[in-house]
Amino acid sequence: MKKIFLDKGHGGSDPGAVANGLKEKDLTHRIVEYAMDYLQANYTGFAMRTSRKGDETLTLEQRAKMANDWGADVFISAHINAGKGTGFETYVHPNASQRSIALQNVLHGEILAAMRQFGNVVDRGKKRANYAVLRETKMPAVLTENLFIDSNDAKLLKNEAFLKAVGEAHARGIAKLLGLPQKAKPTPSQPQQQKSSDGKLYRVQVGAFSDRKNAERLAEELKKKGYPSIIV
Ligand SMILES: [Zn+2]
Repeated sequence: MKKIFLDKGHGGSDPGAVANGLKEKDLTHRIVEYAMDYLQANYTGFAMRTSRKGDETLTLEQRAKMANDWGADVFISAHINAGKGTGFETYVHPNASQRSIALQNVLHGEILAAMRQFGNVVDRGKKRANYAVLRETKMPAVLTENLFIDSNDAKLLKNEAFLKAVGEAHARGIAKLLGLPQKAKPTPSQPQQQKSSDGKLYRVQVGAFSDRKNAERLAEELKKKGYPSIIV
């Protein structure tokens, strides 16, 4: 069971950078929530925690301590940049382990590729800095700076689909590094009912309802998605 710790930068009385009607603490909340939703929906073999469920105020030391005390396998801190620049960058500590650097490499690639589906995003590179959360954490740790809140980048940061894609890319990067098994998902190209090589027929039941209306609703839903369905 791998343990994933996702840190939402800033929060509570510390909004982080503020510009263009945006607050860094809200954006990091959105990105991490999307990452967690995606992990939950697509992978198994892990547990995850975040530094704050809502808008709590936390020190940097508290964030690192939470991950250390839990024994997390990876620590990822999501932030939004400020200073009127443009683009995406990631950080590890100057004394980063090989595993931290591997996490930085995989996250950097996944996130940048996701961002570039929305336009030309500048790659500011894989960097090193003596940030408290990177210094104080005992596991592979990476901090992401997801565009600039106070430049033209804000246009993308106002796009919910962009935040979702960035969050999901964080999730894919983490899953890749940890080698998380993917959840099996039926798709229309793999019918739910298939003859095995020995000629047996296996059926999959997807729901049981006391109210026939609910059963009909689900059957309708399945038909729309291309699965033959019957109510028994
Ligand atoms: Zn920040």
